[in-house]
Amino acid sequence: MYPKSPFLRNPLVESQILKRNPAQLGELMSWLCRPPTITTYRVNMLRTTVQAFKQKLRLVLQERYPQPPQVYEVSNIPEVLCISPILLKNMDIKLKQTELQREVVVDSCCGASLLRGAHIYAPGVLAMEAGTKLGEQVLVYADLAGKCKQGTNTRYDSPDKLLLGVGTIRMQRHQIFGPSTNSCTNSEPEPLKGIAVEMLATTSGVPSIGDLSCSEALLQNLPSILCVRVLNPQFGERILDMCAAPGNKTTHIAEMMTDQGEIIALDKVPKKISVMKEKITSEGLKSIRAYAFDATKAFDPSKPAGAKHSLLEPPFGANTFDKILLDAPCSALGNRPFLIAPSNMTSSMLGSYPKVQRKLFSAAVPLLKPHGVLVYSTCTVTEAENEGIVAWVLEKFPQMRLVEATPRFGGNGLEHTGLNNEERQYLQRFNYNSTETEGIHIDTVGFFIAKFIKCG
Ligand code: SAM
Repeated sequence: MYPKSPFLRNPLVESQILKRNPAQLGELMSWLCRPPTITTYRVNMLRTTVQAFKQKLRLVLQERYPQPPQVYEVSNIPEVLCISPILLKNMDIKLKQTELQREVVVDSCCGASLLRGAHIYAPGVLAMEAGTKLGEQVLVYADLAGKCKQGTNTRYDSPDKLLLGVGTIRMQRHQIFGPSTNSCTNSEPEPLKGIAVEMLATTSGVPSIGDLSCSEALLQNLPSILCVRVLNPQFGERILDMCAAPGNKTTHIAEMMTDQGEIIALDKVPKKISVMKEKITSEGLKSIRAYAFDATKAFDPSKPAGAKHSLLEPPFGANTFDKILLDAPCSALGNRPFLIAPSNMTSSMLGSYPKVQRKLFSAAVPLLKPHGVLVYSTCTVTEAENEGIVAWVLEKFPQMRLVEATPRFGGNGLEHTGLNNEERQYLQRFNYNSTETEGIHIDTVGFFIAKFIKCG
């Protein structure tokens, strides 16, 4: 269904992803080019019940689809609701291709979101044919070549455009492109807002319901939700979230602790921390304190170890935290689907991530109390940032013991990466071959989770 994306022909990315497993490369690359087919929400159990939100989702889906997809729960993560894909035979897009006259073209980034259930917002639109009317159904394509100019008003013909689905026009050309093409005014164009095309169906089969995130639930990938379950925060603990923004895992930690405990959230980008603080305040969460701080410098050996007092501020002394989440900055190559090659992925970029991941880990180890738990995660698939980091930790920090990351939904770590079979089985790698767990089809993003305990 999806063309061979240029991503498949990026030798640099290929060599970094699976250094010692070239046989699996083709399958992995084609998986990365396809969208995940399940949609997951994390229900905020401090605000509502899973059953109540499930009912809300069902109503939205019933309104849109004559044969609505299933909404279901998964074992061991009670706050998760999954939505299955729609059977493609219910919405034959190929047939629509012969019926519908007009086309809308979007950029590849917007295209990737559509395939995961989003609608089209005005900034993503590149071309809309002149005369397209409000309420009209159109075919939606992605411009893979990156050659379609924003504001194009004729049919964009290119061998590199990919059919994504069918949508209904909710904004006209002048509303989408108007301010930037209006030469009568010298004022700054207003930022484009709102849904331009409401998607009805896409080739991925993921229901097009947009993002229904609200105070009661958050649209979040399953492995990200699982990550906090693996950390297993408990009432009253002191937890460090080292790389916290935008804070989706931080708020989950607070919810699991029923907002009773102490969560310190760090991120080195001040703007991200201000946005996060607003979110924490609006959600009324009291247990989180967020700081703009470089977590590689979070350990200060001159500060007293095992500080008991509250209102701690970074940097911290040794043995301060019961648990640490290190959701590391990474190359993000698990964020399927890639319709085009990741544009900024140079070899020095790829090589920089393991360096910062090691620095973050080196700061985390002394901060953890004896018997404390550290969860390391990435949303990428490269060996160097995943199994490579685990092997390095086990060698460099003999006090850190790898333990099984449970509950299990992902597959084992890769072979031939310096880890023995038992260690590989303790890890969770979300990969092209790890989509079936306990009979549940988990077709999600690429992700990696490892759990460590610090020996006393
Ligand atoms: N845990 C977050 C969540 O679930 O919402 C996502 C974290 S994202 C994978 C990685 C974050 O690390 C980015 O927000 C980035 O700004 C931050 N970051 C990168 N280097 C950092 C550093 N040295 N110290 C703290 N934060 C850092």
